[in-house]
Amino acid sequence: MDLGISGRVALVTASSKGLGRASAMALAEEGCKVVVCARGEEALRAAEKELAEHTEVLAIAEDVTDADAPRRLVEATVERFGSVDILVANAGGPPATRALEFDDDQLGTALNNNLTTSLRLVREAVPHMRDRHWGRVCCITSFSIKQPIPTLALSNTARTALWAWIKTAAQELFPDGITVNTAAPGHHATDRMRQLGGGDTSGMGDPADFGKVVAFLCSQPANFVTGTAVQVDGGATTGLL
Ligand code: NAD
Repeated sequence: MDLGISGRVALVTASSKGLGRASAMALAEEGCKVVVCARGEEALRAAEKELAEHTEVLAIAEDVTDADAPRRLVEATVERFGSVDILVANAGGPPATRALEFDDDQLGTALNNNLTTSLRLVREAVPHMRDRHWGRVCCITSFSIKQPIPTLALSNTARTALWAWIKTAAQELFPDGITVNTAAPGHHATDRMRQLGGGDTSGMGDPADFGKVVAFLCSQPANFVTGTAVQVDGGATTGLL
């Protein structure tokens, strides 16, 4: 299937490894120019090198959760490639906690990283999408937006708030040709999950497949798909919603 996005400009945050990197790769394979970011230089340069085999790439060392980083990232994207058509908003997840086991600082950090950062990114990117009457936003969340995970209270809280916001923004932005969706992963075999699971990734999803789902949500034929959460979780979510 031709996803119809060759030549589009995609900003994918938190993308030197894992699901962000896989999303950037899937978009690069579709012919998008890509901008990737991460805090650490080493993994970022490795991702840049791999992506550069497929497309034009700009790699920026940046902590996306810094309040001013979304502005800087969008400005750098537009300066280099002339626009930002596709935004994949991603950031590292919060630590595991039960419902009453965190303090205000931890709550504030989780909300900043997994809610506010995405809103800031969209706020910065949307004016450029509006100019062209075309835009795609895909936030990477978690299957916990449909089925809270008992040991991940902070993640459950920040991500369901983001999901509610996505629903709101989708209605508002659709008349401007902009779609807003979330790809909600279950367990995938990323470095992080390898560390958490002691190296055992049996039964987990392949990040490369997840990236292709993100690329579809950011595609031309997905132009009528908005305000949607696509579960990519191997059936882990058992509810009917
Ligand atoms: P990962 O640790 O494998 O990769 C995270 C990437 O983000 C790395 O490139 C890292 O450098 C970058 N990053 C992290 N914090 C950053 C920051 N503040 N600024 C810039 N870059 C930053 O993680 P992953 O498994 O790919 O997960 C991505 C997101 O999806 C996380 O929010 C995670 O909680 C969520 N998630 C993952 C899974 C899974 O099974 N992998 C399941 C559900 C939800």
